[in-house]
Amino acid sequence: GHHVYFETAAAIVTLVALGRLLEARARARAGEALRALLSLRPRKARVVRDGLELELPAEAVKVRDTVVVRPGEAIPVDGRVLDGESSVDESMLTGESLPVARGPGDNVAGGTINGPGLLRIAATRVGAATALSQIVRLVRAAQGSKAPVQALVDRIAAVFVPIVVALALLTFGTWLLFTDHGLSHALMRAVAVLVIACPCALGLATPTAIVVGTGAAAQRGILFKNSAALERVRALKTVVFDKTGTLTVGRPVVQALAPAPGVAEDELLTVAAAVEQGSEHPLARAIAAAAKAKGLALAQPTGVRAIGGRGVRALLGAVEVWIGTRPWLASQGVDLSPVPEDMPLRTGPSDPAPSAMSSGTPPKPGHTVVWVARAGHLLGAISLADELRPEAPAVVAALRAQGLRVALLTGDNRATAAAIAARAGIDPADVRAEVLPADKAATIADLQRHGPVAMVGDGVNDAPALAQADVGVAIGSGTDVAVDAADLTLLRSDLHGLLTALTIGRRTVATIHRNLFWASAYNVLLIPIAAGALYPFTALPDWLRALHPALAAGAMALSSVTVVLSSLSLRRTARTA
Ligand code: ADP
Ligand code: MG
Repeated sequence: GHHVYFETAAAIVTLVALGRLLEARARARAGEALRALLSLRPRKARVVRDGLELELPAEAVKVRDTVVVRPGEAIPVDGRVLDGESSVDESMLTGESLPVARGPGDNVAGGTINGPGLLRIAATRVGAATALSQIVRLVRAAQGSKAPVQALVDRIAAVFVPIVVALALLTFGTWLLFTDHGLSHALMRAVAVLVIACPCALGLATPTAIVVGTGAAAQRGILFKNSAALERVRALKTVVFDKTGTLTVGRPVVQALAPAPGVAEDELLTVAAAVEQGSEHPLARAIAAAAKAKGLALAQPTGVRAIGGRGVRALLGAVEVWIGTRPWLASQGVDLSPVPEDMPLRTGPSDPAPSAMSSGTPPKPGHTVVWVARAGHLLGAISLADELRPEAPAVVAALRAQGLRVALLTGDNRATAAAIAARAGIDPADVRAEVLPADKAATIADLQRHGPVAMVGDGVNDAPALAQADVGVAIGSGTDVAVDAADLTLLRSDLHGLLTALTIGRRTVATIHRNLFWASAYNVLLIPIAAGALYPFTALPDWLRALHPALAAGAMALSSVTVVLSSLSLRRTARTA
């Protein structure tokens, strides 16, 4: 009778609605990580205007406003500390659980929590420009981006629908023409096939896992910019590290000065530091800092030009000064013979004891030497040393234990690169030294012949290599997330983040595959049953032989829920990655 159809329709609608409800709730939970980040945005700020401290909505703060942050308060915008000393909890941005010391001149990020001191900061970035807003935007974009596996799923879904309609028609026709169960039964079978075949679970399999995976990563200070990178992590064969600022801390310190005959140490340092004031390179900052520590007065350079991977050139008054690699100075026609290549390495620390300059000391491995020339004449060389990141050997060992090839890529000279590689545990055969920034991308392309490559760099001069790599990884600070070329940014300045990112990427892909398996298993198994394949087996219970469309709707809802729950379980495993 008609009531059968009516009840069936009602049951299907109810079950589908219930499935949708469960699914929506589970999906909402998957997106929790992003909402947690958004909720960090402070609403109020104390701004000093005309000498008065006003409490304003955070949106009303303008760049260059002075903002007062009391102990324990959330910092409302990105800024630079004007005065005050405190420690700031940046765990929400970087995953770093220890508070970091912040004082005058340091940058602080909006959304982080001020510790015990009162800070007065000058706002540098407000609203959508803050690091936190950028992170939220990046995570959102990554979650909305289509994973490559999704393209395959879409193609399957496209052929799936006509096939299922054809199967339903076939079922209907077969039952009607070749059995005597009548129109009503034939219709029930066809409807059951249509209901069971709904590819909802298939559609949920990938996006839910991506949302959970990228969200869990973001909570640990790891930003995937797109889901393709998340997927590619699994296939990696090689991980390439940049040296300065990536394998090393990136804060080199001047160790020794080797002036040319007739040149005073202070003169060498004064000229070099004056020019390096105009460069942002870590070596430049170290040289400028060494001169300032000695109280040397520095002239202002003009026409500063940085030549990537080689050095820097500028005018001091009317005289031209070059600072950079030995081959570069040689190519500029500078006579390098007054200072032999290994002399700066034999020279001891210039500061306390000149006695350390005994020429018998063996060259120091791991030092970087820059050469200084003025008006075409060599002034001398400066040797600097940068510390290996403490976690580098453990991270390199872990990567190699996973079967990955680990390589070092640097613009620095071979001896320095080899020394750093040895200490980090990188095979000497996998060291590529004296590579100019422009050739770094070509070196990556060369390594890609053996399989997908991840490149880890500090994101400044490594941009072409990061873009060329299958997975470009930038190590950035929480306030500098706009690293465009990278697919993946580690906000916390710690290489362990790379291991976590690889684990989360692999687990996300594994979850996607498991989801796709379950989603299709439901269909493959239940479509024949819905069509009545078990009907001839009279020993089986009736509900299974003639699968009721309402039961089919229940199974379909269950498959969607299974998939979403499986994605949510990723949240737990990602936390322990
Ligand atoms: P890395 O690949 O290790 O990050 P870079 O490509 O930035 O190194 O630089 C390669 C080399 O070029 C440095 O080791 C240094 O000798 C020289 N160089 C680059 N910039 C400067 C600079 N501002 N001052 C002095 N030397 C520089
Ligand atoms: Mg670098």
